[in-house]
Amino acid sequence: MPRAGILTVVGKPNAGKSTLLNRIVGEKLSIVSPKPQSTRDRIVGIHTAGDVQIVILDTPGLLNPRYALQKAMRATALSALGDADVILYLVDATEGDPAPLAEVAQLDESPRAPVIVGFNKTDLIDAARQEALAARHPEAVSMSAATGAGVEALLERIGGMLPASELLYPEDDISTQTVRFFVSELVRETALEQLQDELPYSIACEIEEFREAQSPIYIRAVLHVERDSQKRILIGAGGQRVRAIGKAARAKIEALVGGPVYLDLWVKVLHNWRRNAHALSRFGYKLPEEQSP
Ligand code: GDP
Ligand code: MG
Repeated sequence: MPRAGILTVVGKPNAGKSTLLNRIVGEKLSIVSPKPQSTRDRIVGIHTAGDVQIVILDTPGLLNPRYALQKAMRATALSALGDADVILYLVDATEGDPAPLAEVAQLDESPRAPVIVGFNKTDLIDAARQEALAARHPEAVSMSAATGAGVEALLERIGGMLPASELLYPEDDISTQTVRFFVSELVRETALEQLQDELPYSIACEIEEFREAQSPIYIRAVLHVERDSQKRILIGAGGQRVRAIGKAARAKIEALVGGPVYLDLWVKVLHNWRRNAHALSRFGYKLPEEQSP
């Protein structure tokens, strides 16, 4: 039975969170925007190995005093904790014993999901100190994000704690939602340019598939409009217009991702999607009730 779920990573600045995420997911992460703006922007990586999929959420600002004052960021971080199936509390092993997560994060109650304490930077402490830490924290995991030591074991431990579930994302989908977001905005922008404001607000773009593991990168994008008449405009005579949009959008996406892209572009009608809360959130628009105070 496959397993899949959400790993939320928490840690003080400098604990090695970014280094670990980069090691787990790969270099793609470097273009991830750190801004927590919407639910999907919190996803920083997807790791799939066999029939186990770990969707990794970031918690910017949770343990960072510089940002902790920003309520919206804290709210986003707290909701990432609330959504977690497993929480990894990453600690710099050279700093010794960590304070409890609930205390450093100033949580009113302990998070619902199990917390794994991960001692990072074990390459910087000698064997005796490593053993002493492990003896005091038998449930903790030790690793070096820099060398990769212990990271496989960490992933296995996490995988075993995830709920039985079908994969949440396609198997070779390691892109972040942020990359998808940029791509969908590029396609939408290109459509608007070529339409000369004929249907400015009626178009939403959804990236249905994003396969980065192959070359050219395969992207299936759908332009959703509200009415059949709009679909006809967008497709144009003999499909001329949608082809032109696809060609121009592909060039922009290739510049963004730095490689060849196959853009499979479709036009679909989703009646009155702008008045449909489900469709709005599916397209990444923030609903008023989701907005942070
Ligand atoms: P973050 O603030 O938690 O995201 O921490 P970063 O990933 O940016 O790492 C902070 C610093 O610690 C950087 O200079 C990293 O190169 C370094 N670092 C991270 N993990 C390790 C590790 O396992 N070993 C060593 N020696 N350095 C590490
Ligand atoms: Mg970082």
